[in-house]
Amino acid sequence: MPALHPLCCGRLAFDRSVFFPDAAPGVRTTVPVPGFLVIHPKGTLLFDTGVACEAADDPVGVLGKRLASTFTLAGAADETAPGQLGLMGLKPEDITFVANSHLHFDHCGCNRWFPRSQILVQRAEMEAARAPGSRYDERLWNLPLNWRLIDGEHDVFGDGSVLLMPTPGHTPGHQSLVVQVARDSRFVLTADACYSAEHMARDLLPSVVADAPQMRESMHRLRRMGEQAGTTLLFGHDPEQWAALGAARQALR
Ligand SMILES: [Zn+2]
Ligand SMILES: [Zn+2]
Repeated sequence: MPALHPLCCGRLAFDRSVFFPDAAPGVRTTVPVPGFLVIHPKGTLLFDTGVACEAADDPVGVLGKRLASTFTLAGAADETAPGQLGLMGLKPEDITFVANSHLHFDHCGCNRWFPRSQILVQRAEMEAARAPGSRYDERLWNLPLNWRLIDGEHDVFGDGSVLLMPTPGHTPGHQSLVVQVARDSRFVLTADACYSAEHMARDLLPSVVADAPQMRESMHRLRRMGEQAGTTLLFGHDPEQWAALGAARQALR
């Protein structure tokens, strides 16, 4: 059975109304940017690579004016994907697969550190990034990496324990990850298909959404999964849940 390790791959501070469209502007919030390391007998998988390591030193140059004016980078120096792997005694070349939930800046920012890994992205996501007029940052997706474009559900290690599952809506090719860590215990990493427990409880969509009905449908599917025995949803950017995970470097069981 695989082990699941949460990694803090950055923190973002911004106006709460970015996440909660019904919130009054002027209230700041800080959220984690999670990545997850899956250690499986057949290899390793890193789910999302967080914010680019270089962004803290040069936010405008790395993220661009629009993002840098909305988000303040609030992570510690070692809260990056390579930094977190280093704390576990691992290097990027130890990672067999990288999977990106989607290609927003806070989910694939450190992809370029993984030239030897196979990068698993939904074809629909890459097509959206490549589309004329797309707002995806080309410096993040147009890289000479070992990309593998997948269509729909994907069983990463072939034994059903680590499954990529399409959860479109936030972006056209968004995917979540299901990790079965024991016979009676699994985690569903929602990524941005649902930012937080509060979004789920209030059935609330954020303002960043490519297709609202589709995102709602994906959220409902995740909710139904979360209601099943032995299933824990881990949300995309939930400060309370992240704090409750506690020792973020401990394996989840
Ligand atoms: Zn996103
Ligand atoms: Zn995000």
